[in-house]
Parts: sequence; C-alpha cells; structure tokens
Amino acid sequence: MNLDRLIKPRSIAVIGASENVVGTKRIFTSLQTLGYEGAIYPINPKYDTLFGMKCYPSLKDLPEAPDLVSFRVGFQRILENFEMLPQVGAGAAVIYDGGFAESGEEGRKLQDAIMSISRESGIALCGPNCMGVLNPHHRSSSTTQIVSNLDALRGNVGLISHSGSVGIGLVADVRRFGYSLYVSSGNEAVVSCDDYMNWLIDDPNTKVIAMFMEAVRKPEQFVAALDRAAAAGKPVVILKVGRSERTRRAITSHTGGLAGSSKVFSEAIKAHRAIEVTDMDEMFEVLSVCQGRVLPKGRGLSLITGSGGLAELMLDVATEAGCHLPPISDETRAEAESVIGHIGGDGNPMDAWGHGDFQRNLPHAMACFDKAPTTHAILLCTETFDQAPFLLPPLGNVPAVAEAGMKSDKPHYVLNSRPGILHGEQVKYMRERGLVCLGGGRQGLMAIDRVARWNTPLPPIRKSAAKPASVAIGGRSTVHEFDAKQMLAACGVSVTREKLATTLEAAKTAAKEIGYPVVVKAVSDDIPHKSEYGLVKVGLADEAAVTAAWAELEANVKKVGKPVKLAGFVVQEMVKDGIEMFAGVSRDPDFGLTLAVGFGGIEIEITRDFALRPLPLREGDAEAMLAELKGAARLGAIRGKPPADVKSLAQAIYGLADFVAANGDQIAEIDLNPIKLMPEGKGAIVVDALIVPKN
Ligand code: ADP
Ligand code: MG
Repeated sequence: MNLDRLIKPRSIAVIGASENVVGTKRIFTSLQTLGYEGAIYPINPKYDTLFGMKCYPSLKDLPEAPDLVSFRVGFQRILENFEMLPQVGAGAAVIYDGGFAESGEEGRKLQDAIMSISRESGIALCGPNCMGVLNPHHRSSSTTQIVSNLDALRGNVGLISHSGSVGIGLVADVRRFGYSLYVSSGNEAVVSCDDYMNWLIDDPNTKVIAMFMEAVRKPEQFVAALDRAAAAGKPVVILKVGRSERTRRAITSHTGGLAGSSKVFSEAIKAHRAIEVTDMDEMFEVLSVCQGRVLPKGRGLSLITGSGGLAELMLDVATEAGCHLPPISDETRAEAESVIGHIGGDGNPMDAWGHGDFQRNLPHAMACFDKAPTTHAILLCTETFDQAPFLLPPLGNVPAVAEAGMKSDKPHYVLNSRPGILHGEQVKYMRERGLVCLGGGRQGLMAIDRVARWNTPLPPIRKSAAKPASVAIGGRSTVHEFDAKQMLAACGVSVTREKLATTLEAAKTAAKEIGYPVVVKAVSDDIPHKSEYGLVKVGLADEAAVTAAWAELEANVKKVGKPVKLAGFVVQEMVKDGIEMFAGVSRDPDFGLTLAVGFGGIEIEITRDFALRPLPLREGDAEAMLAELKGAARLGAIRGKPPADVKSLAQAIYGLADFVAANGDQIAEIDLNPIKLMPEGKGAIVVDALIVPKN
C-alpha cells in the first residue's frame, strides 16, 4: 500500500472542524506553525468559514479529491463519512477515536466495516485509536501536537509508536537528534507498523527507525520489513512492552510452554538484525549512537578517564553489561606511559591522569587507542552538567575529543556516567561535528555495543541435508519415545542403544545384547509422560530385575485409567551420571518454530534457565546458546571435574534442527528431556524423546 497520501499529504480535510474543540483546533494551529504548504479543508455544515478559511458542508463539496481526511466527528458519524471516502477519491484517513476492536464486539464490527472499505479502495488508514502522523520534513501533521521549534524537531529518526502518548514523550526530546517522522499507529486496522517501516526504509530523510511496540500484528510482514531495513543499512531499534510472561497455553511438552514468551520475540527480531532495548534510556542512547559520523566496526570499547575511581566504576559497569573492554597490549602501554606516566590495571579503562597534565595526556591516550587494532570505539568517560560550577571553560575536554574523533575512522564519544544528564553546549559542539555525547555508563556502553553488533554481519543460516522421516508423524496424538529417537538418530542425534520388545523373552535377549544395567519403559503414543504412571524402571542389574520390572510395568499400564495402545516395552542402555539437559522445539503463535536448550529434568520448571533461537539456526547458534545459559559455568571444568562434552551437545542441537528442517510442517512440539551430557569425549545421549505432531 502506498502511504504517500497519508504521510506526505498535498491536502488535508478535517471532518468535524470546529474552533471550540481544543484537539480539533490544535490540528489547524499545528499546520499553521509548521508552515504546511498544502491545501486545508475544514468541513462542518454549521459554518461558512473556520480559522479564516472557507468551510465546506461535506466531503462531497470539496473542490478536489483530498489526500488525507482527518476524522474529528463523533463516533456515531464515522462510518457514514468513511463510506464517502472512495466516492470523493480520498487517499488516506486518520481516525483518532478509541472504542473499536480493542473494546468489544460492536467496535470490532465497525472496525471491520472500515477495514473493508479501506482495502477495496486503497485508503491508507492510520488508526483507529491513534494520534496521527507528524512529518517535520514535509511540514505536515495530522496530530494534535503543536510544534514550537520545527528546526529542532527535524532529523533522521523515524518513530513508530503503538502508544501515542509515549511517542509524543519521545519526540519531545530533541537534544541529540531530531525526527524524520512520527507515527502513532494505534490499532493498525489497515496500515500496520511493517507498512510504516517500509515507507521509512525508502525515505531518504530517515537514517534509523525507532519503534515502541505493544503487539506484533503481522509477524511475517514485520520480520520481512526488518530484513529490508537491514539490507538498506538502516538500524531498527525496538522497545516492546509486555515482556512479562503471557498466559500459559495448554501444552503437552515442556518446551511447548516456552512458545509465546517474550524471549521468542527478542530472539526472533535479533535474528532479523533489529536492536532490542528494554527501556527509554537505552532507546535514546542507541538512537544517539546511530547519529555518529562513523559507527563502531567491532565490539572493542576503549575507555579513558581522568580518575582511578571512575575507571574502576566503568570497568564494573562494563563487565556487568557484557561489554568488551580489551586490555592494552605491551606496545600500547609503553607508548601511552612514555607521555602519561604509570597506568594502572590492564589499561582499559585507562586512567590517563598520570603526571597530571590531562590536556596533554587525553589526546595522547586517544591516539594510542586509535592505533590499537583491538579498539573499535574510544570514549572519554566523565561527569558533566549544564550548570557546572567548576567547569571552565564550559566545553571542558570535549573539543579535544571532537578533534580526535573528526580525524579518526573509529567513533569517539563523550560518556557521562549518569543517564539523562547532558551538557547542552557540549552536545551541540559534538553534534555539529558528527559526534555523539552519551549519558549513562551502562546505557551508553551497551548502546555502542548493540550498534557494533548490528554493524557486523550475522553468520549464515545453516543448510540441512536431512530427509523427511520414514516413520509416520501425522495422525498420531504423540510420537512415542522409541519412534521419535529413531527419527532423530537418522539426523545425527545420538540416542540410547535400545530395542522394542513385546515379549519378556525378547526383552531378556535385548538386555543381554545391550549389557546390564538396563532401563525398561512402557512405550505408547497415549502416554507422553511415562514416569507419571510408574512406567520407567531404571538400573535393572540382571535378568531377575528385568523379569520383575516387566511384571510391574504390565500391572502399571492397567492402572493408567484410560485406554492405552501399547507399542511395546523398550529395553535400553542405562546412562549413568552426566548432566541432565533438555532441548526442544515449539511453535510460537507469531514467529513459528523455535528451538530451546537448557538444563533438563525439573530444572526447566524452576530456574527457567534456557536459551532460544528461531529456526532455522544460523552457524554457531548451538554453541552460542549453550554459552549464554546462566548456568554455563556448570558445563566447564570445575574442581577436578572434567568439562562437559559441549561439542556433542551442540551436534545434537544441530541434528534436532535438521530434523525440523525436513519435517517441520508436521510438528507442533518436540521435547528431548533428558539429554545426558557426559564428560568431554563421552558424548551427549538422548535418553527420552517426545514429538507432538501438528493438529
Ligand atoms: P518421562 O516420559 O516420564 O519423561 P523418561 O524416559 O524421561 O520418562 O524417564 C524418566 C527419568 O528416568 C529421566 O528423567 C531420567 O532421569 C531417568 N532415565 C530414563 N531413561 C534413562 C536411561 N536410559 N538412563 C538413565 N536414566 C534414565
Ligand atoms: Mg522425559
């Protein structure tokens, strides 16, 4: 859908125009203060003139087809007017009122009626339940905000907000950048955030896209737009609310419960190169970093302070935030110390106070970092205020940073250690030179780190050669352990050695072949969780134990309390020791199949320590997921205990992903729980598996 008539209207008609209603009046005032150059048509049968302009009785009386129609009529009269839009050749509309789909059946019906008119006639509708569109470069607005300083407002950030008020709050801060567009998109009945994103991607005034989101309405189009933005080199910065867990749906597998979690959204957008932030402070620092003349080409941050205390603080903050502060090399140290004097610690952050001539030391420290190959961004960390009683001249060390930054292909920043506190003159001085002041140790460092990661290409998507499974999946309530393991083994997942037996004699023979001790379990599509019914017997040491277990399992099957179609009893190797892990696949309602891995057994319920990725995986995802677990240290060597066979577990994860690549359309959920993760070189063995087919 073409949004030009909504976003760059050549004419704006206001239905229900009036000088007495504050909100409506403001639309006219705002167009005046913006210096809107298009035609403005107030519509109201009660008046001949309004705001010194000719007023028209109805849409049908306008001298031309209006580009944009702003709806300021009462809720009851929206539909009758909306029906006129195609007849008069209108191109776009804004409906501000709430009371539509978000508030019940009647509103939903009205929204549907408006949607179908829009679709049929190609009317770009913003809203309902929104605040409209503000385009500072085009000097047009359908919002009720009055712009007092157009020059300050104009910039390169395209902002799309589901919440109008939050959006206005953001647009109000123009200290470090301005806006190319502000859209309050509301219910997105017709035009949704992906459409706006696509418009901004093609808009030459927009360098970076910011989004405040409450919901993803069209996930497929949304991620496609993210891909387009990435390809166009425009970062998309997203703050999504509602990160607390959604209501849990009815689920069969453990992994199934992870679908719909905010983690899925985070990982899905990350896989499409969006930058996620968790609050406003982070949002503004990231948008500020994006303003820089150059962006960091790697994650190495080099920090300079004039204080040992601040250096230590910044190191703590950076470490906690997961930022990379590479220590200086011997060579860099020698060069730095030749001017500065002794440098403490590992030199990053570098307390460059030294002998005390900071005017000389700071440029030298920056020059040393500029040459260091591990440095990708250089920061002066300091404290700054608008009304600093000590700072004379007011620009302090900022000109020195600017001078170095303008010459370098590595970005230079001035970082104030507290968020939101900025020195206006310093910001201006830096900004005029294509450089950036940041606020907040954690927020600032994380912002540079996020943009640096955005600026490095993602690893390629893994290709899979797996073939569709030979055992049937569809039409079954669940696929039992034995079949599931066979299918997975065909994709390179290592599973327990096992045999399915239907007689005790066969079980005994199988046990002998496999070697004692063994495990015997009753296997059926009707029983996804066997131990709930006492259908798992572990540690069977000899034939007598197998015989006894067999009898007990037979008895327990009868006690299940529902009809059970038994596939047989599986006799399998007993895998002693090992760390119990789980891996699984679930289908997120928005983003489709995702793979999760974490600590298994009941721990998944308690610690919720898992990592997740949308499928298909990218190269290195499995290893990265394991490294990202909170309990990752448990997989390493601890107190004489050898490290776990992480390599084999990664292989199992890739095997699971390959299986899904070949059979995904038939799958709702998969649970490998537990996987016994053995010491290095001894493998990762799937001990139990469950597949839940789609439908
Ligand atoms: P459920 O269907 O109830 O999940 P499992 O097959 O996972 O049943 O078995 C329950 C538990 O028994 C597992 O979590 C694991 O601790 C243990 N177990 C099952 N099979 C084996 C095995 N082959 N080797 C060692 N332990 C096992
Ligand atoms: Mg299990």
